[in-house]
Amino acid sequence: MSLTTWAGNRTYAAARVHEPRTVEQVQEVVAAARHVRALGTRHCFNDLADTPHDLVRLDGLEPDVVLDERARTVTVTGGTRYGTLARALHPRGWALHNLASLPHISVAGAVATATHGSGDRSRNLASAVAGLDLVTADGSLLHLTRADADLAGAVVGLGALGVVVRVTLDVEPTYDVAQEVHTDLPWDAVLEHLDEVTGSADSVSLFTDWTGPAVRQVWRKTRVPVGGTYEPRTDLLGAVPATGPLHPLPGIDPVSCTPQLGVPGPWHERLPHFRLEFTPSNGDELQSEYLVPRAHAVDAIEALRALGPAVAPLLQVAEIRTVAADDLWLSSAYGGDRVGLHFTWLPRQPEVEALLPRIESALAPFGARPHWGKLFAAVGAPGSDPADLYPRLPDFRSLVTRLDPTATFANPFVTRHVLAS
Ligand SMILES: Cc1cc2nc3c(=O)[nH]c(=O)nc-3n(C[C@H](O)[C@H](O)[C@H](O)COP(=O)(O)OP(=O)(O)OC[C@H]3O[C@@H](n4cnc5c(N)ncnc54)[C@H](O)[C@@H]3O)c2cc1C
Repeated sequence: MSLTTWAGNRTYAAARVHEPRTVEQVQEVVAAARHVRALGTRHCFNDLADTPHDLVRLDGLEPDVVLDERARTVTVTGGTRYGTLARALHPRGWALHNLASLPHISVAGAVATATHGSGDRSRNLASAVAGLDLVTADGSLLHLTRADADLAGAVVGLGALGVVVRVTLDVEPTYDVAQEVHTDLPWDAVLEHLDEVTGSADSVSLFTDWTGPAVRQVWRKTRVPVGGTYEPRTDLLGAVPATGPLHPLPGIDPVSCTPQLGVPGPWHERLPHFRLEFTPSNGDELQSEYLVPRAHAVDAIEALRALGPAVAPLLQVAEIRTVAADDLWLSSAYGGDRVGLHFTWLPRQPEVEALLPRIESALAPFGARPHWGKLFAAVGAPGSDPADLYPRLPDFRSLVTRLDPTATFANPFVTRHVLAS
């Protein structure tokens, strides 16, 4: 049976798919392969993970959760899903700092693309990586920690440096989260008070189709001590508190969404928008996302609203989120706070791809960085070097040459968008 991305929009071209059950077997597969790429839970929408040669999946490895309470870290195998890890951590009194909109994605695959949730003070998921075990081209194991200067380059590694078999993540004492939703927040209030809106909870997401006088929904997630109470807030600059649970996509049953209405519960059951047991989002969709410097957020939003009539017919919903700065070389939030401008598209890929250059031209003046795992046309303006957007890209290219001199983990995507200047 052919293997496709989660969205079904691409069939992997790999000649062979390996499913090792131990780290040693991963090492054997890599050592024997001429070209090989690691595959996570297949949630990317583009050809980032793909290769015409060998793919290696890590789902067959046990999660092997090792909690170190003194060091405040947890180590798991790379193919472990965030949802599985969270369910192992919470009963033991520990938590992660944030999660993406869905708990279904693998840890190694998510950090490889700088996957993020939302929060003015929340860095992306990769920022929690304290260490990596990487199977390099000759099949040997390389252990990197924060004591190694290379770690900041290797974490958001796009699969280009090796197969991450174990990841060590920072943990913190567990906490609850209360999630509440408002509808119809006027655009004037968003644009005038963006900092106030995104700063009004630990994690804030605004859902829109870029048209009309108001943002359709605002989801706010607030940390609460375990077992604590939470008084839902009715105030939000003229928006209307929801009286029942909502799905971000119009007309879809919210049964797949995490609990709302301000009822506190475990962090991992509120930080994602979608529950682990259900298909996240719609399933029949494509996605794109661009991250702009916080200082340009209002101008970038205005630019997208101007494109609203062209964008809306292809859109299921768009989401505005915030991400705090980090120092990971290929992270979309490297060097400064960013605002994510996300699009969940209808599954009409040729039309979406025809529209993306217009969106990218509109966002180019703001230094927009595309999400590595979603659909985009170019990294930066056509003909420009992506190093204009990622100051440490030359260092990343050197790291690839040093760790993978035989180009074992090279693939067309990485060559096209990252290695070619
Ligand atoms: C419904 C849906 C919702 C999403 N929500 C969000 C969101 O809220 N925030 C966000 O930022 N993104 C989001 N994404 C995008 C998603 O988080 C990223 O595409 C992420 O990289 C997917 O992880 P994966 O394990 O499925 O990776 P894959 O698609 O399988 O692989 C992604 C990359 O990681 C590499 N990789 C995978 N495993 C390893 C490994 N063990 N060692 C080395 N490299 C590896 C692959 O080679 C490839 O380069 C969403 C995607 C979907 C489909």
